[in-house]
Amino acid sequence: MQLLLMGPPGAGKGTQAVKLVEKFKIPQISTGDMFRAAVKAGTELGKKAKACMESGKLVPDEVTIGIVRERLSQDDCKGGFILDGFPRNVEQAKALEKILDELNLKLTKVLNIHVPAADLIERAVGRRVCKNCGATYHVKFNAPKVENVCDNCGENLYQRADDNEETMKNRLSVYEESTRPLIDYYEKIGLYTEIDGRQPIDKVTEELENVLYSVKE
Ligand code: ADP
Ligand code: ADP
Ligand code: ZN
Repeated sequence: MQLLLMGPPGAGKGTQAVKLVEKFKIPQISTGDMFRAAVKAGTELGKKAKACMESGKLVPDEVTIGIVRERLSQDDCKGGFILDGFPRNVEQAKALEKILDELNLKLTKVLNIHVPAADLIERAVGRRVCKNCGATYHVKFNAPKVENVCDNCGENLYQRADDNEETMKNRLSVYEESTRPLIDYYEKIGLYTEIDGRQPIDKVTEELENVLYSVKE
Protein backbone atom coordinates (compact mmCIF):
# COMPACT_ATOMS: atom_id res chain seq x y z
CA MET A 1 0.00 0.00 0.00
CA GLN A 2 1.15 3.46 -0.90
CA LEU A 3 -0.50 5.73 1.64
CA LEU A 4 -0.68 9.43 2.25
CA LEU A 5 -1.45 10.62 5.75
CA MET A 6 -2.60 14.21 5.70
CA GLY A 7 -3.86 16.69 8.25
CA PRO A 8 -3.01 20.03 9.81
CA PRO A 9 -0.06 20.35 12.21
CA GLY A 10 -0.86 18.50 15.42
CA ALA A 11 -3.73 16.46 13.95
CA GLY A 12 -2.13 13.14 14.94
CA LYS A 13 -0.38 12.06 11.73
CA GLY A 14 2.81 10.91 13.44
CA THR A 15 0.93 9.16 16.24
CA GLN A 16 -1.20 7.24 13.76
CA ALA A 17 1.63 6.53 11.31
CA VAL A 18 3.51 4.62 14.01
CA LYS A 19 0.49 2.39 14.57
CA LEU A 20 -0.01 1.77 10.85
CA VAL A 21 3.69 0.90 10.47
CA GLU A 22 3.24 -1.84 13.07
CA LYS A 23 0.05 -3.12 11.53
CA PHE A 24 0.97 -3.09 7.85
CA LYS A 25 4.77 -3.47 8.09
CA ILE A 26 5.54 -0.62 5.73
CA PRO A 27 7.88 2.30 6.51
CA GLN A 28 6.77 5.75 7.66
CA ILE A 29 8.28 8.56 5.66
CA SER A 30 8.02 11.80 7.59
CA THR A 31 9.63 14.82 5.96
CA GLY A 32 9.42 16.64 9.31
CA ASP A 33 11.38 13.83 11.04
CA MET A 34 13.93 13.80 8.21
CA PHE A 35 14.44 17.56 8.50
CA ARG A 36 14.72 17.42 12.30
CA ALA A 37 17.34 14.67 12.05
CA ALA A 38 19.30 16.75 9.53
CA VAL A 39 19.15 19.87 11.73
CA LYS A 40 20.39 17.84 14.69
CA ALA A 41 23.24 16.35 12.66
CA GLY A 42 24.14 19.78 11.26
CA THR A 43 24.18 18.61 7.63
CA GLU A 44 23.77 20.84 4.55
CA LEU A 45 20.13 19.78 4.40
CA GLY A 46 19.70 20.75 8.05
CA LYS A 47 21.17 24.19 7.36
CA LYS A 48 18.68 24.70 4.54
CA ALA A 49 15.70 23.59 6.63
CA LYS A 50 16.39 25.11 10.04
CA ALA A 51 15.19 28.70 9.64
CA CYS A 52 12.03 27.70 7.78
CA MET A 53 11.13 25.16 10.42
CA GLU A 54 11.73 27.57 13.28
CA SER A 55 9.43 30.16 11.77
CA GLY A 56 6.79 27.62 10.70
CA LYS A 57 7.25 28.13 6.96
CA LEU A 58 7.60 25.35 4.42
CA VAL A 59 11.10 24.26 3.47
CA PRO A 60 11.57 25.11 -0.25
CA ASP A 61 9.95 22.61 -2.61
CA GLU A 62 13.11 21.67 -4.50
CA VAL A 63 14.81 20.64 -1.25
CA THR A 64 11.80 18.73 0.05
CA ILE A 65 11.00 16.99 -3.21
CA GLY A 66 14.63 15.95 -3.56
CA ILE A 67 14.75 14.14 -0.23
CA VAL A 68 11.43 12.41 -0.88
CA ARG A 69 12.56 11.21 -4.31
CA GLU A 70 15.71 9.77 -2.78
CA ARG A 71 13.85 8.11 0.09
CA LEU A 72 11.10 6.56 -2.07
CA SER A 73 13.73 5.07 -4.37
CA GLN A 74 15.12 2.93 -1.56
CA ASP A 75 14.41 -0.79 -1.48
CA ASP A 76 12.29 -0.81 1.68
CA CYS A 77 9.66 1.32 -0.09
CA LYS A 78 9.03 -1.25 -2.82
CA GLY A 79 6.36 -2.99 -0.75
CA GLY A 80 4.60 0.24 0.18
CA PHE A 81 5.00 3.21 2.51
CA ILE A 82 3.17 5.81 4.56
CA LEU A 83 3.97 9.39 3.66
CA ASP A 84 3.44 11.63 6.69
CA GLY A 85 3.57 15.38 6.14
CA PHE A 86 4.32 15.26 2.41
CA PRO A 87 2.96 16.59 0.09
CA ARG A 88 2.08 19.90 1.69
CA ASN A 89 1.18 21.90 -1.42
CA VAL A 90 0.01 21.26 -4.96
CA GLU A 91 3.54 21.58 -6.40
CA GLN A 92 4.71 18.76 -4.13
CA ALA A 93 1.65 16.65 -5.00
CA LYS A 94 2.45 16.96 -8.70
CA ALA A 95 6.09 16.08 -8.06
CA LEU A 96 4.99 13.05 -6.07
CA GLU A 97 2.89 11.85 -8.99
CA LYS A 98 5.93 12.09 -11.21
CA ILE A 99 8.17 10.27 -8.76
CA LEU A 100 5.63 7.46 -8.38
CA ASP A 101 5.27 7.21 -12.15
CA GLU A 102 9.04 6.82 -12.47
CA LEU A 103 8.96 4.06 -9.85
CA ASN A 104 5.92 2.42 -11.45
CA LEU A 105 3.86 2.91 -8.30
CA LYS A 106 0.43 4.35 -7.60
CA LEU A 107 -1.11 5.89 -4.51
CA THR A 108 -3.52 3.51 -2.79
CA LYS A 109 -5.29 5.96 -0.52
CA VAL A 110 -5.15 9.48 0.89
CA LEU A 111 -6.24 9.65 4.52
CA ASN A 112 -6.94 13.03 6.04
CA ILE A 113 -7.13 13.34 9.81
CA HIS A 114 -9.55 16.18 10.38
CA VAL A 115 -9.19 18.25 13.56
CA PRO A 116 -10.65 21.76 13.91
CA ALA A 117 -8.14 24.60 14.16
CA ALA A 118 -9.32 25.48 17.67
CA ASP A 119 -7.90 22.18 19.05
CA LEU A 120 -4.57 22.19 17.23
CA ILE A 121 -2.61 24.74 19.25
CA GLU A 122 -3.30 22.87 22.49
CA ARG A 123 -2.24 19.63 20.84
CA ALA A 124 1.05 21.03 19.57
CA VAL A 125 1.96 23.04 22.67
CA GLY A 126 1.38 19.97 24.88
CA ARG A 127 3.30 17.61 22.58
CA ARG A 128 6.41 15.98 24.04
CA VAL A 129 8.79 13.77 22.05
CA CYS A 130 11.35 11.21 23.20
CA LYS A 131 14.93 12.28 22.50
CA ASN A 132 15.97 8.72 21.91
CA CYS A 133 13.22 6.73 20.19
CA GLY A 134 11.00 9.52 18.85
CA ALA A 135 7.82 8.35 20.62
CA THR A 136 5.24 11.12 20.89
CA TYR A 137 3.24 12.02 23.97
CA HIS A 138 0.91 14.76 25.11
CA VAL A 139 1.01 16.24 28.61
CA LYS A 140 -2.77 15.92 28.90
CA PHE A 141 -4.13 13.63 26.15
CA ASN A 142 -1.44 10.97 26.06
CA ALA A 143 0.74 11.43 29.11
CA PRO A 144 3.70 9.13 29.83
CA LYS A 145 3.46 7.02 32.98
CA VAL A 146 6.24 9.05 34.62
CA GLU A 147 6.26 12.78 33.88
CA ASN A 148 8.73 13.67 31.15
CA VAL A 149 10.11 10.12 30.80
CA CYS A 150 9.54 7.87 27.77
CA ASP A 151 7.46 4.73 28.48
CA ASN A 152 9.33 2.83 25.75
CA CYS A 153 12.95 3.54 26.56
CA GLY A 154 13.22 5.62 29.74
CA GLU A 155 14.85 8.65 28.05
CA ASN A 156 13.78 12.20 28.78
CA LEU A 157 11.19 13.90 26.65
CA TYR A 158 11.63 17.27 24.96
CA GLN A 159 9.44 19.92 23.42
CA ARG A 160 9.98 20.72 19.74
CA ALA A 161 11.29 24.24 19.11
CA ASP A 162 8.37 24.95 16.78
CA ASP A 163 5.68 23.71 19.19
CA ASN A 164 4.93 27.10 20.67
CA GLU A 165 1.80 29.17 20.20
CA GLU A 166 3.35 31.80 17.96
CA THR A 167 4.98 29.40 15.49
CA MET A 168 1.87 27.25 15.52
CA LYS A 169 -0.18 30.23 14.31
CA ASN A 170 2.16 30.54 11.33
CA ARG A 171 2.02 26.81 10.66
CA LEU A 172 -1.76 26.90 10.73
CA SER A 173 -1.92 29.76 8.26
CA VAL A 174 0.57 27.99 5.98
CA TYR A 175 -1.68 24.94 6.24
CA GLU A 176 -4.79 26.93 5.25
CA GLU A 177 -3.10 28.59 2.33
CA SER A 178 -0.88 25.85 0.90
CA THR A 179 -1.95 22.45 2.22
CA ARG A 180 -5.73 22.60 2.49
CA PRO A 181 -6.11 22.88 -1.33
CA LEU A 182 -4.78 19.31 -1.52
CA ILE A 183 -8.09 18.05 -0.15
CA ASP A 184 -9.78 19.17 -3.34
CA TYR A 185 -6.88 17.86 -5.41
CA TYR A 186 -7.16 14.32 -4.00
CA GLU A 187 -10.96 14.34 -3.89
CA LYS A 188 -10.93 14.89 -7.64
CA ILE A 189 -8.61 11.93 -8.15
CA GLY A 190 -11.01 9.85 -6.01
CA LEU A 191 -8.50 8.67 -3.41
CA TYR A 192 -9.57 10.84 -0.53
CA THR A 193 -11.06 9.75 2.81
CA GLU A 194 -11.51 11.88 5.90
CA ILE A 195 -11.35 10.59 9.47
CA ASP A 196 -12.56 12.50 12.53
CA GLY A 197 -9.34 13.16 14.46
CA ARG A 198 -11.12 14.49 17.56
CA GLN A 199 -11.78 10.94 18.73
CA PRO A 200 -9.47 9.11 21.14
CA ILE A 201 -6.20 7.92 19.57
CA ASP A 202 -7.20 4.24 19.43
CA LYS A 203 -10.55 5.02 17.85
CA VAL A 204 -8.84 7.05 15.11
CA THR A 205 -6.49 4.11 14.49
CA GLU A 206 -9.43 1.73 14.26
CA GLU A 207 -11.18 3.90 11.69
CA LEU A 208 -8.02 4.30 9.61
CA GLU A 209 -7.48 0.54 9.65
CA ASN A 210 -11.07 -0.11 8.61
CA VAL A 211 -10.67 2.16 5.60
CA LEU A 212 -7.46 0.37 4.66
CA TYR A 213 -8.94 -3.11 5.03
CA SER A 214 -11.70 -2.08 2.66
CA VAL A 215 -9.27 -0.87 -0.01
CA LYS A 216 -6.99 -3.85 0.40
CA GLU A 217 -9.70 -5.99 -1.18
P1 ADP B 1 3.57 18.72 12.00
O1 ADP B 1 3.35 17.25 11.86
O2 ADP B 1 3.31 19.20 13.38
O3 ADP B 1 2.87 19.51 10.96
P2 ADP B 1 6.14 18.23 10.76
O4 ADP B 1 7.06 17.48 11.62
O5 ADP B 1 5.43 17.50 9.70
O6 ADP B 1 5.10 18.96 11.73
O7 ADP B 1 6.86 19.46 10.08
C1 ADP B 1 7.65 20.36 10.83
C2 ADP B 1 8.21 21.42 9.90
O8 ADP B 1 9.07 20.79 8.92
C3 ADP B 1 7.19 22.18 9.06
O9 ADP B 1 6.63 23.27 9.77
C4 ADP B 1 8.05 22.62 7.86
O10 ADP B 1 8.88 23.72 8.20
C5 ADP B 1 8.95 21.40 7.65
N1 ADP B 1 8.33 20.45 6.72
C6 ADP B 1 7.90 19.19 6.99
N2 ADP B 1 7.38 18.60 5.90
C7 ADP B 1 7.48 19.51 4.89
C8 ADP B 1 7.10 19.51 3.51
N3 ADP B 1 6.48 18.46 2.93
N4 ADP B 1 7.36 20.63 2.79
C9 ADP B 1 7.98 21.69 3.33
N5 ADP B 1 8.34 21.76 4.61
C10 ADP B 1 8.09 20.69 5.40
P1 ADP C 1 1.15 15.52 13.77
O1 ADP C 1 2.17 14.49 13.37
O2 ADP C 1 -0.06 15.51 12.88
O3 ADP C 1 1.72 16.89 13.93
P2 ADP C 1 1.14 14.15 16.38
O4 ADP C 1 0.82 12.75 16.05
O5 ADP C 1 2.52 14.47 16.76
O6 ADP C 1 0.59 15.13 15.20
O7 ADP C 1 0.13 14.62 17.54
C1 ADP C 1 0.15 15.95 18.06
C2 ADP C 1 -0.12 15.91 19.57
O8 ADP C 1 -1.47 15.53 19.80
C3 ADP C 1 0.75 14.89 20.30
O9 ADP C 1 1.06 15.43 21.57
C4 ADP C 1 -0.16 13.66 20.43
O10 ADP C 1 0.14 12.88 21.58
C5 ADP C 1 -1.54 14.30 20.54
N1 ADP C 1 -2.59 13.50 19.91
C6 ADP C 1 -2.49 12.72 18.79
N2 ADP C 1 -3.68 12.14 18.50
C7 ADP C 1 -4.57 12.59 19.44
C8 ADP C 1 -5.97 12.34 19.68
N3 ADP C 1 -6.69 11.55 18.87
N4 ADP C 1 -6.54 12.96 20.72
C9 ADP C 1 -5.81 13.78 21.54
N5 ADP C 1 -4.49 14.05 21.38
C10 ADP C 1 -3.87 13.45 20.34
ZN1 ZN D 1 11.79 6.67 23.97
